[in-house]
Amino acid sequence: MTAKINIAIDQKGNYVKIQDAVKGQLYYCLNCKERLIANTGDHNIHFYRHHNKKNREALIECELYSSSDSDYGILLNEQIYENKVRFIFDKSLNLKMKLPYLSRSSLARMNFDDLYFSVTVQGNRIFSTGLGKRSNRGYLDVSLEYEYLVEIENERNAKLLEYVIEKKVQLFQRQTLLFKKISGEYINIPYEKTNLSNELFLLSTKKLPRHSDLILKQYSISNGIHIYHFYIDNLTESLIDWFKKETGYTIIPNRKWIDLFYPNSFQYGDYSLLVETDKVLVKVTPHSSKDTLGYFNKNGQKEVLKVDEDGIAELDLEQNHMYHLRLNHEICNELTLKRISEIEPVTDYSTSILVNGQLDEIDAQSFERAYSVESASAFYVFKQDEYPIKTNSLEQQLPKAVHFPFIGTMHRRRVNGKENLVSWELLLNSMQWGIVKNSEFMDVFKMVKESNLPNRSIYIAELLKNYNMLPKDFVKIIRGGR
Ligand SMILES: [Zn+2]
Repeated sequence: MTAKINIAIDQKGNYVKIQDAVKGQLYYCLNCKERLIANTGDHNIHFYRHHNKKNREALIECELYSSSDSDYGILLNEQIYENKVRFIFDKSLNLKMKLPYLSRSSLARMNFDDLYFSVTVQGNRIFSTGLGKRSNRGYLDVSLEYEYLVEIENERNAKLLEYVIEKKVQLFQRQTLLFKKISGEYINIPYEKTNLSNELFLLSTKKLPRHSDLILKQYSISNGIHIYHFYIDNLTESLIDWFKKETGYTIIPNRKWIDLFYPNSFQYGDYSLLVETDKVLVKVTPHSSKDTLGYFNKNGQKEVLKVDEDGIAELDLEQNHMYHLRLNHEICNELTLKRISEIEPVTDYSTSILVNGQLDEIDAQSFERAYSVESASAFYVFKQDEYPIKTNSLEQQLPKAVHFPFIGTMHRRRVNGKENLVSWELLLNSMQWGIVKNSEFMDVFKMVKESNLPNRSIYIAELLKNYNMLPKDFVKIIRGGR
């Protein structure tokens, strides 16, 4: 199976499918961020190609990452649905309807030509003057129903401003609805394929069976609708299967992680980490030099941060503003930070941690050898491309990072010699191949690419022929009995 690049980023940072590409425009690769050319000749199959890339293996990697059937479809969907009617759960579990916003030019025209209108749902009304993108007034409190009737006063004006909204809006376009965190809001996901936030809501017209990897924080039932507030520590394969079977959602694991690196002491707040320093360091794992972090500042403007050669970015925090950090053009977690004047010291946390059988102080240090760590309270173990696992002890393994709540984070120094653990011959001789997570496939692909194996190109060809699949025996080894 050969993949072709079907999605690119334009100069404004928007995702553009090859069908919508315009000749002469500048486009960039999602994976390596280099220039792409839109190949849209009359007789060819259309796709993007790199303007100038000689390295064949790097090219293949980009093609795998950016083909339209890949995980990046998630990001495209987030863009497509950004300005449609959506639903939000707030902190007190109240439901709000979020209305589409008016473009800047429409807002200007509305004021210039007196084209005002209003939208009413369940007796609550919003005037068009509140529908600017950053006005934060485009929310209507609604009660939990299956369907909502939308009334528009001066509809002709709305039409002239190209403001599109349906007369009937269904909350449940499917039996079970996911609300995940995007830009600090818990918002409904109307499309099938998505990644997850650590905290999420599921609304379902049927009762959902329990799964041991889902931590139930709150449950209620209203108007025949089951409302679940879940927390996820560890995105396991069986949980991904559960989502597919019980909710219909296809869950894609994160490709990268943003983690708080400094300060070492913080407090868990409402959906955010509270710190008292005016400077924070965040770390991206795994990182590349072209990674950029995006967030909105106090004035609602988008800011962009670059990471240094260790994947670390520095950020100055203004007090009481919520910083929702995300990696631009990447499937990753969202780290929310807020600076307050004083965090509350934690009383129930035991600071004594045994590292290799000895009491140790965890600072932002790194570790090379396998550690054995025991703690009275749980800590998080980060592995590449996966949700962190919460545990009380750790032995005989080198995770990407170990994060001790309220204390600090230890990072692994360098990965090497991993290729000696697996028998590469399996790639050529195996009869049984099974579908694996894209992150696992890419891990193996990268391992081969960066190795000094004599038959490297043959292995790579075999892997590409079996995109997103690995030999079954091989999977057991790389998962290490997980
Ligand atoms: Zn590329």
